[in-house]
Amino acid sequence: MERKLMIAPSVGCCDLFHVEEQVRVINENSDFLHMDIKDGVYVPSFGIGPDYLHYLNTHVKELKPMDAHLMVKNPQQYLKTFADAGASFITPHTDCIEGDAFVTIRKIKELGCKAGVALSPSVPLSTIEYYLPLLDKVTIMIVDPGIAGQPVDPQMFVKIRQLAKIREERGLDFLIEADGSMNKELYRPLYEAGADIVVLGPPALWNKSDDFERAWDIMEAELAVELEGAERQI
Ligand code: MG
Repeated sequence: MERKLMIAPSVGCCDLFHVEEQVRVINENSDFLHMDIKDGVYVPSFGIGPDYLHYLNTHVKELKPMDAHLMVKNPQQYLKTFADAGASFITPHTDCIEGDAFVTIRKIKELGCKAGVALSPSVPLSTIEYYLPLLDKVTIMIVDPGIAGQPVDPQMFVKIRQLAKIREERGLDFLIEADGSMNKELYRPLYEAGADIVVLGPPALWNKSDDFERAWDIMEAELAVELEGAERQI
């Protein structure tokens, strides 16, 4: 289905007792599988690891592109591990690669993956200015990574709009993704600001219903309603 916003559910949020059926619904209906990798060091929480990606890669037919969002302190050590596990995109955080950003991005591409970076809310867009042409995706964290339940600062919509403007002015074609505290009231301002992809966690998807297929339908309906008549404002 063609949507104004592509969707990337955070697959690690699946109910452990119902992973198979939830992954099936997600894989059939989403654009990307967002894989939140957290090391308990860079962020104060833990997430799934490369074995989770490898399992899906070997057990799910026609798997959608998996994006490894590396909320880890030393992502350079794990690029090959995630490429081997089947990641299509590898997305480290800018503040973890600032000393070797060009090398890291090139390495991701040499491994046959697409290169993303994630910017925490306090990181300015100027941080990525020089390597922006090398990127396939920029993930704008609209809340601090790895901590659930935060409000979204409206400056994040301005940040996305500025990034979309830079993309247009420089004739680049990277994807713009918004990640964090996602829910229906954010779809429209994020789309209008220039976001292409939204990452969906429990508030936007799983918490909508105890029945996951029903939760999925509610999320789809909310996306459609919120984006009806929405126009880019770049
Ligand atoms: Mg994420």
